[in-house]
This record gives sequence, structure tokens and C-alpha cells, in this order.
Amino acid sequence: MIDPRCISRLNEAEEKRGPVIYWMSRDQRVQHNRALLFAQMKAKALGQPLRVVFTLASSFIGATYRQYHFMLEGLREIELLLGEMNIGFVLLQCSPQSGGPGKELEGYAGSSGAGCVVTDYSPLRISRQWKQQAAASLKVPLYEVDAHNIVPCHAASGKQEYAARTFRPKINRLLGEFLQPLQAVEAMPHRAELQKVNWREVFANLSVDRTVEPIDWLKPGERAAGEHLRRFISEKLPRYSELRNDPTAEGTSLLSAYLHFGQLSAAQVALEVQSSGAPEESKAAFLEELIVRRELSDNYCAHQEQYDAYEGLPGWARQSLEQHSLDPREALYSPQEFETAATHDRLWNAAQKELLHTGRIHGYMRMYWAKKILEWSPSPREAFETALWLNDRYALDGRDPNGYSGVAWSIGGLHDRPWFERPVYGKIRYMNASGCRRKFNVERYIAKQETG
Ligand SMILES: Cc1cc2nc3c(=O)[nH]c(=O)nc-3n(C[C@H](O)[C@H](O)[C@H](O)COP(=O)(O)OP(=O)(O)OC[C@H]3O[C@@H](n4cnc5c(N)ncnc54)[C@H](O)[C@@H]3O)c2cc1C
Repeated sequence: MIDPRCISRLNEAEEKRGPVIYWMSRDQRVQHNRALLFAQMKAKALGQPLRVVFTLASSFIGATYRQYHFMLEGLREIELLLGEMNIGFVLLQCSPQSGGPGKELEGYAGSSGAGCVVTDYSPLRISRQWKQQAAASLKVPLYEVDAHNIVPCHAASGKQEYAARTFRPKINRLLGEFLQPLQAVEAMPHRAELQKVNWREVFANLSVDRTVEPIDWLKPGERAAGEHLRRFISEKLPRYSELRNDPTAEGTSLLSAYLHFGQLSAAQVALEVQSSGAPEESKAAFLEELIVRRELSDNYCAHQEQYDAYEGLPGWARQSLEQHSLDPREALYSPQEFETAATHDRLWNAAQKELLHTGRIHGYMRMYWAKKILEWSPSPREAFETALWLNDRYALDGRDPNGYSGVAWSIGGLHDRPWFERPVYGKIRYMNASGCRRKFNVERYIAKQETG
């Protein structure tokens, strides 16, 4: 049984006899997936086949080959896993002329005689638009199931939260009700007679920017994600609270790309972490990031229409930044100078090189990286745009609510409080290299990024 608070019905059309379609989008995994489980329950109750459909957009908020590659390798595995359970997988490659994923899905649902469609939840604008389009034109019901958040975004809070301190009690109040093991998705009784996806063609047909190359340090897919999680729990979680702010120690989980593509369920991560023998302090520190901070980001994007724009920043922060917008800067760089790691600061350049070459920046350095973009850009608005552009272009976990809120926190005081006023930053929390030196061996971090 899926808690009804996880489910929203997006249109009023009547159910028909026909296959149940799970329109997979943000939650790209088979197990521990509320949306797929809900679709399977419907299919079984109606005695109908179940199909999983992925509509591959021809572009997605500036995603490059690096991110498409990771995602498609994960989807390729999903086709195999589903095949073992007699569940068909269909990949619809949308051309720029096709009218977009919502239209494509509607066409497929019509031609395959679907009885109802289930999809997963995302607060991002583009995803909401696809669903609105599909909901308006589908002749069968469209259900949306929040399979990403542990406490469904709409149940957690009905408004934009000011800070983790206002959100935390709301989450904690409901956590016990939602953080429950899910039953497994099971094999369907009849084989799905569907054509296999021609993956070679899918990769070849991609018309995205291929100059940003795939990474090879993290294996994509649901199975690899599970193995990675278990290694993290046994090897790193016990010292998470001690080492997480040291970029040379690699003490964090490196799970964000798996979570971003939904190749891993946050609920499953939380359950496995809770039941591990790691010290309570480390478990609590990790679960604060995984649950409170991560779900606070979805809350931000769900309730702030301008989550990816300077205008979305809190009023006090914008006012303060604007009062300091003409302050002299220690240095000024263009977006291209930032991109090519050509600043005067070896530590900043090292973080940017980490991003360029590995598709990530350690969480602690990510804050420093964004704050220096604020310090060395001609205006706070340009800083916001540059940081978001670089993050989304190069980071494997980019275009995530965490990215929008992370940039807005660093540059625009989102979910933070006003600090002592200082040049350029105004009342935004400041960070400098001396602070980094006190936390970790900066030279070791720089050397690591310079030698690759
Ligand atoms: C400027 C800036 C940009 C960022 N861009 C992104 C982004 O594009 N995508 C992204 O997923 N995260 C982003 N973050 C948040 C955070 O830096 C990463 O989630 C984290 O570094 C990922 O590494 P990890 O999986 O080893 O984290 P861990 O420390 O192991 O944390 C576990 C999980 O908790 C969540 N989490 C951790 N820190 C945060 C946080 N501050 N806010 C929200 N959730 C958090 C992530 O899902 C993460 O995988 C950004 C932060 C900043 C300051």
C-alpha cells in the first residue's frame, strides 16, 4: 500500500481497460520506487500489463553528454532488470519538432491503448510543464507519485520554508510515517513482447554538447548505486561527522549523482544508514544532509517560481547585495575566465579543475567556489548566473533542486541568516582561504587537482 499523501491525480479523465504505463522521469530505478510500485499495483488490480516509458528529451536545461551518458547507461540497465520481470521498457526519443515529452507520451498512451498513466514527482518547472501538457491531453488518468522525497514534498510543507530550522520539525514529525521499507516490485505473469531499445542508435542520435565528456570514477546504474552505498556505510560512514569537511579525506558518500538521477532511493539510503552500526553522531550528521537539507531544496523549488533566478533570493539578501554592488572588487573575471580556472587563486582554480575533470566539487569546496564567484564578478546577478551555469554544465549532479538552493545559499543567503556586513558580500556569510586552511591541508587538495 502506498500512502495516499504521496499521490496526486493530475487530471479527471476516466480509467480505461488497457496497459498501465509508468512514465519514468526523475526516479530512474526499479526497486524502492513508490511510483513504479503504485503502477504495478494498479496493473495487477486491473489485470493489465505494465510498461515503463521514458521520454528522452532532445535537450534538458543545458545538460551535456556527461550527464546524458550517465543517465542512459542507467536506463540501459533498467531495461534489462525490467525484462527479467516481464515488464516492458520503451524509450521514446523526442525530436525538437515532436512537441516535447508530454506530447510524445500522450501519443504513445493513445496508440498503445493505455488504461492509465503514473509518473513520478519533480518540482522543476520543465517537468511540471511536461506533466501539465500530458494531463490536459491524455484521455486516461495521470497520477503523480512522489518517489523522490522521503516525506512527500507537498505533505512536508505547503509553503516556502525560511530555513532548515523551520523545516526540520515538520519533516521529523512525519518521518516515521513515511520512512518505511517498500515491498519489492515483482515479476508480471506474462512476458512483455516489446522491441528492445537500440542503444547504439540512441547514443548516436543525441544532439547534445559532447565537449563535456563522461566521467569514469562512478559506475552508473541502480546496481552500482546499491554497491556504492554499502561500501560507504561500511568504510566511510563511521567517520562521516569527523571527515566530511575535509576535501582531502574523501569522507562523504559521493551519492549525489545516484540520488539526482533517481538511481538510488533516498529512503533506502536512510533505512540502511539507520540500521548500520555506525556511531550515532555520524548517522545523525549524514541524515541531516540526506533528509532535511535535500528535501528543503525540493521545498524551495516547489514554492519559489524563480528558484533558478537571482529574483528568487530572499529580499534582505538582494537588498544588501545591491547596496554593495559598486564596492571595488579584489579581482574581476568573466564567465570564461572562471570556466577555464584562470583566476589568481590556486585554491579556487583547483576546485574548478575538480569540477571540469571529475564532474563534482567536494561539498565544502563547493561553498568556497560559489562565494568567490560572488566576490570576483561584476555584480551579484552575474555571479549567480555564472555559478549556476558552471554547476549545471559540468556537475554530474547538476540541474538538481540541491544545486539551485546551494548556489542561492552561497551567493544569496537562502536558508541562511544575515551576517556582519562587509564589502561586496553585504550581509551574506563570508568564506575565505584561511578558513579552509584551518579545516584541511589546502596544498594537498591543490596538488591533487593539479596532478589529476
Ligand atoms: C554552490 C553549491 C552547488 C551545489 N550544487 C549541487 C548540485 O548541483 N546537486 C546536488 O545534488 N547537490 C548540490 N549541492 C549540495 C552538496 O554540495 C552536494 O549534494 C554534496 O556535496 C554531494 O556530495 P555527497 O553525495 O558526497 O554528499 P554527502 O555529504 O555524502 O551528503 C549525502 C547527500 O545529502 C544531500 N546533501 C548534502 N549536502 C547538501 C546540501 N548542502 N544541500 C542539499 N542536499 C545536500 C545530497 O543528496 C548528498 O548526496 C551544492 C552545494 C553548493 C554549495
